[in-house]
Amino acid sequence: MTVLEPLALPSTPDGWSAWLEERGRGSLRTAADQIAALKDSRPGDTAILQVWNDASVRLANAFAVTSLMSSVHPDPEVIELAEAIEVEARRFGSDLHLDRAVHELLGSVDQEALDAGERRMLSDALRSFRRAGVELDDQTRDRLRGLNERETELGQAFSRNIRDGRREALVPATALEGLPADFVEAHPADDEGRVRITTEYPDVHPFLTHSRDADARRAVAMEYFNLAWPQNDAVLRDLLRLRDEKARLLGYPSWPDFDAEVKMIGSGAAIEKFVDRIAAEAHDAGVRDLAVLQERGAREGVEQIDLASWRYCFEAVKREQYGVDGQEVRRYFDFAKVHQGLLDVTSRLFGLTYERVEVPTWHDEVTTYDVHLAGPDGTTRRIGRIHLDLHPRDRKYNHAAQFDLVPGVRDRQLPEGVLVCNFNRGLMEHQEVVTLFHEFGHLMHHVLAGGHEWVRFSGVATEWDFVEAPSQMLEEWAWDATVLQLFARDADGDPIPTELVERMRAADEFGKGFLARTQMFYAALSYKLHVEVPEDITARMFELYPEYSLVAPLEDTHFHCGFGHLEGYGSGYYTYMWSLVIAKDLFSAFDRDDLLAPEVAHRYRDAVLVPGGSKDAAALVEDFLGRPYNTEAFSAWLNR
Ligand SMILES: [Zn+2]
Repeated sequence: MTVLEPLALPSTPDGWSAWLEERGRGSLRTAADQIAALKDSRPGDTAILQVWNDASVRLANAFAVTSLMSSVHPDPEVIELAEAIEVEARRFGSDLHLDRAVHELLGSVDQEALDAGERRMLSDALRSFRRAGVELDDQTRDRLRGLNERETELGQAFSRNIRDGRREALVPATALEGLPADFVEAHPADDEGRVRITTEYPDVHPFLTHSRDADARRAVAMEYFNLAWPQNDAVLRDLLRLRDEKARLLGYPSWPDFDAEVKMIGSGAAIEKFVDRIAAEAHDAGVRDLAVLQERGAREGVEQIDLASWRYCFEAVKREQYGVDGQEVRRYFDFAKVHQGLLDVTSRLFGLTYERVEVPTWHDEVTTYDVHLAGPDGTTRRIGRIHLDLHPRDRKYNHAAQFDLVPGVRDRQLPEGVLVCNFNRGLMEHQEVVTLFHEFGHLMHHVLAGGHEWVRFSGVATEWDFVEAPSQMLEEWAWDATVLQLFARDADGDPIPTELVERMRAADEFGKGFLARTQMFYAALSYKLHVEVPEDITARMFELYPEYSLVAPLEDTHFHCGFGHLEGYGSGYYTYMWSLVIAKDLFSAFDRDDLLAPEVAHRYRDAVLVPGGSKDAAALVEDFLGRPYNTEAFSAWLNR
């Protein structure tokens, strides 16, 4: 087996542009040469597959580095360059999939002569060409090329407006009552006794959760739910119309039908059915939850459970009825201990060791580890490298996500993945710990599935509505007392009490129906905006709120403008709930009383994560569970 070296990143701040130029544009140039060589192939030659894979590796490398750098690099010039190259990469990919000569050569390969992996890779590739429109007439293909280009621009503009659109509210310093001491300390009052609360996660979420000042919460919520308004309203409308036109040109009734064809769910109609089914299943529980929240809110004069009040009331119920005080809880979640704990837990589960390495990256706060996997004979080998970029800073991507730096390819390149999050530097909320486990699930998937010959199967390469399942399942470990006690210790070194974790879990059970309805509102919004593009998106959204969500909207807010997933997930936000259904099913195979038992975890690793995209997700789940997936575990959880 070839020993692979990680990617060397620039060691000086001014080295990045030249490096990105080479890694981005250079990869695209090489890919173009390889495609030219492919066109000289003899029809039917199986070597065409290798050349196709070579070019795909280069293209994937260019995409990975540009998407990552435009989201994390501190230098605006590098961000701009990354965005420019990303546009070129998309254009390259779009033109490539509309190239009839390449399509014909791939189609000339005799599928009967291939092994199962080759055949799957080839049929995936041919499907991508068909879905790009390669079989359509010249004029339509030209139009599609133009639409693809414009889609990239609009998508970038949508994300940029959210990323750079940070807003803030000035609220009286007294509104900090109820917030943790470190938060208060980080928000000094100005001369007029006011403090600044921004729309960044570490500001807005704790504030809306803990501030006792209803007016201040409303002021902050008004900013938060107007993120990227009004800029993104027009951007989104153009994007929705463009997707609709594209789907129709390609012969699909709507964008969701086009999009769902390559997902587990299969069709647009199935999305609607799924969303409505979950919404109905969650209805009774959600209404019961809402009554509890309303009753609690009323005691402080809160008239309705809306976008400005629901988090606060939710927290109050958890604290008072379940005895869970977020502030008591966060004493146990010191960032450094959680960080180490996460590595220790996943190391035990997946048979990995992490070796801290000091290498240059794009920012000093990034920590880098080599990941080694223990083989059955006791020897270990390096299978990848991970970079953890976990705290907020200006211009950084402001959600939590896993990015690729390098897709792994057997004997060619070591997988490297990056976690990009925005966590508190000191004490963390338990929800942040859950998010950290979640995102780390994606990272593990990327690294463990980084040993395939075909880059098409590398990493998180299953159907897109499955990709959240492994991460959602890993969240369960952040709710287990035995697991948490390995690292959740207060300043005196005392571990989090089992009894507190029990209460946290009971509190977490509260509101499942209510939250599922909120999720189904997001899912319905993402689906319905795409299936029939409204003239007035805000008006359409306000129609959908009461149909799905139990949270009342705030007048004059424009949530859709800051809802970044409308760009990346398109009509597929249902994915989160779909994956959760499967995550609950997968988790049913583990022993809840012994979540660190290695045998089942290793079996899961090898059956579900390591295969990447080399099999259909349904088959991966069946391989692990020994039966097809079903919704029983999910329904039992939702209504227990
Ligand atoms: Zn995720």
